[in-house]
Amino acid sequence: MSDAMSLLDTVYRQFDQAARFTDYEPGLLQQMRDCNAVYHLRFPVEMDNGNVEVIEAYRAEHSYHRLPTKGGIRISPHVSADEVVALATLMSFKCALVEVPFGGAKGAIVLDPRSPEDVRRRVIRRYTAELSRKNFIGPSVDVPAPDYGSGEQEMAWIADTYRHLNPDELDHWACVTGKPVTLHGIPGRSEATGLGVCDGIMEALDHLDDMQDLGLTRGLAGKRVIVQGLGNVGSNAASHLQECGARVVGVAEYEGGLYTEGELDVEAVLDHRAETGSLHGFPGATWIPSSAETIEQDCDILVPAAIEGVITSENAARIQAKVIAEASNGPVYPDAEPILAERGTLLIPDIYLNAGGVTVSYFEWLKNLSHVSFDRMYKRYEEISTRRLLMATEQLAGSRFRPDDLADLTRGPSEIDFVRTALAETMSEAYRGMHETWRERNLPDLRTAAFLIAIERIAANYLALGIFP
Ligand code: GLU
Repeated sequence: MSDAMSLLDTVYRQFDQAARFTDYEPGLLQQMRDCNAVYHLRFPVEMDNGNVEVIEAYRAEHSYHRLPTKGGIRISPHVSADEVVALATLMSFKCALVEVPFGGAKGAIVLDPRSPEDVRRRVIRRYTAELSRKNFIGPSVDVPAPDYGSGEQEMAWIADTYRHLNPDELDHWACVTGKPVTLHGIPGRSEATGLGVCDGIMEALDHLDDMQDLGLTRGLAGKRVIVQGLGNVGSNAASHLQECGARVVGVAEYEGGLYTEGELDVEAVLDHRAETGSLHGFPGATWIPSSAETIEQDCDILVPAAIEGVITSENAARIQAKVIAEASNGPVYPDAEPILAERGTLLIPDIYLNAGGVTVSYFEWLKNLSHVSFDRMYKRYEEISTRRLLMATEQLAGSRFRPDDLADLTRGPSEIDFVRTALAETMSEAYRGMHETWRERNLPDLRTAAFLIAIERIAANYLALGIFP
């Protein structure tokens, strides 16, 4: 059954579907589709029991039309070269779509992410050293970031290893993003992908015509949401969606799921799972012992934020959600799409919806290159100019603001304010462009529009650059 196609086949199919709407010459299309370089490495690492094991790892750099290349490092026992290439390819189109000036890349280390800290540290340091030796990492070359199985701690080890190997590199902190804030990271990076998912869904729900077609009211308020996968992306998306007025009625993890006619308290669910290791036993909701069944429950919006290929031609007809918001990469198989389209489901594509992470990574990289935080040069100036404006207003009005209000109104922006507003603006702009392209050019769906925009931007780059030499 073609449902079993790999993520790489899926991505190529998505690319080809959009490429049909262009008239670029085949060679240029092939250059944009193929992965430029894949480094497949093996290195020995001493395990906790003293044995030496050979670790397998990858770094795929998909496209050099913009440099550096950018993308996370996945740590998982089940990761293949093809999957890394597929994810690197998605990164190129994702970055082009949200106008983040990077080529796409992705790394992977074949390792259980729950391995002891000592082992993970040794593996990450050695992996970084190997990448550095081959020039597969650096602020202007290729900049890794967190992905499934890796986080701030791993990024800190990468930064530290890189700076010791490259002591003359002034911008060494810009060699990796997603670092802890105390180590030249940026506030808001760890929740950025989940927040971007929430921003993107709100943007989609703001289009009255689309909502009318779906039989939904406009806006997120009161919409019933099911989130599958409570890792970094899913848990942050669920919390933010709830904060923004959605009703989270279901959550699913690999052990099973919860569903309620009422509303789940997301923070309480996350605490329960952190304490007990399972969603099972959470009070006030129905326990469903299967993740697959949980996502088939009645809701308005389904947010798959776990693994790829959870919606296939086998279960697509049973998905009741009117909006499917792809927070993870490739959760909907191509063969499921016609079935969903037939039912009128609105699918918000992954290359758009999970672009919040790399967008905020871009801000972190800029901050590291400029060696100054975003608020430092503006905060006090903003406060002073707002105060002047308010004083002029007081004079004209002949009355005064309450001191508390004045303090609130004049408070200058902090770094997190810059990050959040710039992220929201990026997600809105990208959605508007994607939506306009979809409607005006009569394309089959948002995904085709997203790929088409990205392809046209990357093609324009290649055509302007010419072929070297
Ligand atoms: N791993 C994330 C992604 O796939 C983030 C990449 C980055 O920040 O460079 O989008």
